[in-house]
Amino acid sequence: MTTGHGPGPKFAIVGAGPAGFYAAEALDIECPGAEIDIIERLPTPFGLIRAGVAPDHQTTKTIQDAFEQIAQRPNVRIVGNVEVDRDVTIAELAQFYDAVVLASGAPDDAPLDVPGGDLPGVYGAAEFVGWYNAHPDHAGLEPLLDRDSVVVIGNGNVAIDIARILSKSAAELATSDIAAHASERLAQARISDVHIVGRRGPLEAKFTTVELRELGELEEAVAVAESHQIPDAVGSDLSPRDRRVKGKNLECFKSFAQADPSAKARRIRFQFNARPLNVLGNGRVEAICFERTRVENGQVTGTGETLEIACGAVISAIGYRARPLGGLAVSATGDRLTNTDGRIAPGLYVVGWLRRGPSGKIGTNRTDAEEVAALIRSELVVGDKPGLAGLKPLLASRNVRTTDYVDWKKIEAAEIAAALGGEPRRKFATMHEMLAVLGA
Ligand code: NAP
Repeated sequence: MTTGHGPGPKFAIVGAGPAGFYAAEALDIECPGAEIDIIERLPTPFGLIRAGVAPDHQTTKTIQDAFEQIAQRPNVRIVGNVEVDRDVTIAELAQFYDAVVLASGAPDDAPLDVPGGDLPGVYGAAEFVGWYNAHPDHAGLEPLLDRDSVVVIGNGNVAIDIARILSKSAAELATSDIAAHASERLAQARISDVHIVGRRGPLEAKFTTVELRELGELEEAVAVAESHQIPDAVGSDLSPRDRRVKGKNLECFKSFAQADPSAKARRIRFQFNARPLNVLGNGRVEAICFERTRVENGQVTGTGETLEIACGAVISAIGYRARPLGGLAVSATGDRLTNTDGRIAPGLYVVGWLRRGPSGKIGTNRTDAEEVAALIRSELVVGDKPGLAGLKPLLASRNVRTTDYVDWKKIEAAEIAAALGGEPRRKFATMHEMLAVLGA
């Protein structure tokens, strides 16, 4: 590992999640001899692999092994515990690097913009998922889970992840890496019913079939749907691929519609064609009111009919928002930076969710990064930039205690050593704990 000032191009990537690692891999292929520094706010890399992918989906998290391989390349360095805009600006990075690639995702929740949407007991998916995944930003959330019913709004895979984590037994979560504070709170919670509510119908839901099927296989919870909401067949107007995909989801919903709600102690209840109107409660969430909808030409319209669901918490999984890093313009949709094919300005690029919005699978970020890396190579002007040899002294002058890959491995080793029973690791939930492992 060098911190020297070699002749190759110097790249700074901001964000050590999947988009950042795939960008590093793609730039290494496009520009042999490049020095690539991945700047990360936390001392722990891997972004949503660590803090977004559900803690009971350990197989998905094995993609981390591929990112570890990238991190160990001699020309790739992780510069952790460094926050852009707080410790260093994008303009300063541009002085040190031939190109700067932003890969910091869309970390904030799309707001639940209805009356009562700010009552205690309303949470966004980013904060709720961050809470159960021990993300330092959200570890202190202490969600209200003291009533028997929780409503999850949204018909995407994040809504399914949340409903499943709320419904799994302690035994089912024992082999996960859920935050200790979350498993304790869930064990004390009294949740018997989790409602997943979508504003469109079952055939328009964005769930993937594997995730839906999993809800039919839980130890203590049964997935149920209302048979009158489930169509007999998928529409003939769909493409063959959509017919196949939607058809598989439909089979799941049909089996949920036949399930006995009393078969198990808990229920995951699907509710379609209902859009949030207002959250009700005196000082905290007590219920949520929806308006029934119909979908016409792809548009959701209200029917005027309402539906009220009593609940103690509402978790809104309706998408994410980008942060305006460096004061850069955010798109009108709010979920990405304004860019053209990944270019923001000469020498400044964006990849992943921050480029295209919060969509796709983990591997989608690889294709995305390859496209942007090819663009970067085609536009690259290699100057005599110092790279990390310039950045390090600046950060030191600001008393920033940076962390690197070796530090991450020490934190990881401490988490693995602290694991109990079948847990793969017991995650630290605060920056203080992570840095304490390093004696900092
Ligand atoms: P998503 O798939 O885009 O789903 C968002 C949901 O929120 C949609 O049902 C959307 O409805 C609804 N919504 C948006 N605004 C709303 C509003 N104002 N009121 C009511 N509902 C509203 O997003 P996601 O679930 O956050 O997932 C993000 C990405 O990560 C997706 O690509 C997802 O597949 C991926 N992911 C994958 C996995 C996995 O593979 N296991 C797990 C988690 C996440 P409309 O359709 O009507 O807009």
